[in-house]
Amino acid sequence: MVSGATEPPEVTVEEIQTVDDDHFNEDAVAIVTGGGSGIGRATTIALAHNGLTVVATDVDEEGLAETVEKARACDAAENVETVTADLVNEDDIASMVEAAAELGDLRYVANIAGLQHISPIEEFPTAKFDELLDVMLRGPFLVTKHAIPHIRATDDGVGAIGNMASIHSHIATQDKVAYMSAKFGLRGLTQSIAAEGEGTLRSFSVSTGYVKTPLVTNQIPDTAEERGISEQEVVEDVMLGESRVKEMMAPIDVANLFTFGFSKRARHLNGGDLTFEGGHLYTY
Ligand code: NAD
Repeated sequence: MVSGATEPPEVTVEEIQTVDDDHFNEDAVAIVTGGGSGIGRATTIALAHNGLTVVATDVDEEGLAETVEKARACDAAENVETVTADLVNEDDIASMVEAAAELGDLRYVANIAGLQHISPIEEFPTAKFDELLDVMLRGPFLVTKHAIPHIRATDDGVGAIGNMASIHSHIATQDKVAYMSAKFGLRGLTQSIAAEGEGTLRSFSVSTGYVKTPLVTNQIPDTAEERGISEQEVVEDVMLGESRVKEMMAPIDVANLFTFGFSKRARHLNGGDLTFEGGHLYTY
């Protein structure tokens, strides 16, 4: 059972959810932020495999190159373009969105990039607070702001903005004040887009518990050592202690939610949250 606990799984073609949707073709463009790692990488591959042209963007250029390599293994690399951009910089964001819009009909945005900083409120560095808010709230707002005119300019105005939230956009824990401030805010952004989207331009958020990405799996061996417990106990008791499902989600499980959320099958999902957290929020 412990096997694989500390390694983020690779995406395989068999796990990719495909949806038959007239808009899922290479004329339609999707932007995926955080495309150089973890959930953003899996989402890039999943959407490209569904036939969309995907602009994977990240501040990590090497990570983006690796995403293209991984997409190749899923026969999806030819649909992936990469743009290096820093989400704290509005000029970078504006150029990235323009580059995406030149590739076809920009219809979809997956705001996924993120980072964490752990510290009690009274010691939380203000610059770190600003950075987390910039990347995870102001960044998604700016990508959305620059993308909306392009989505509205398509022949039918159909499109969607999907925002990667978290259980920490519903409940709070200690020492993650910036993360929760950003993620709670992201749900406000999501609902604001729905309020202004006139039904064809939709929005949704995705809230999960722990997902097996480098961000999380890198912590497992250290936590096991610190607490003197096994890696399996870290996963089941510490990370998934409040969850009924004692298995971490894989990045592709999250990516599949973005594919569904963008598709016509989710045309009544607007402003809502895809809460996939193993029962953490709904049981006790
Ligand atoms: P990850 O670290 O694997 O990927 C995050 C990516 O964001 C990285 O490639 C990083 O370079 C990029 N990024 C960071 N700062 C940036 C900036 N200034 N400009 C552009 N890109 C930047 O992490 P992940 O686990 O895949 O997380 C992705 C998203 O999912 C985050 O928003 C995270 O909060 C959220 N999330 C993760 C989990 C989890 O358990 N892994 C759970 C719930 C929500």
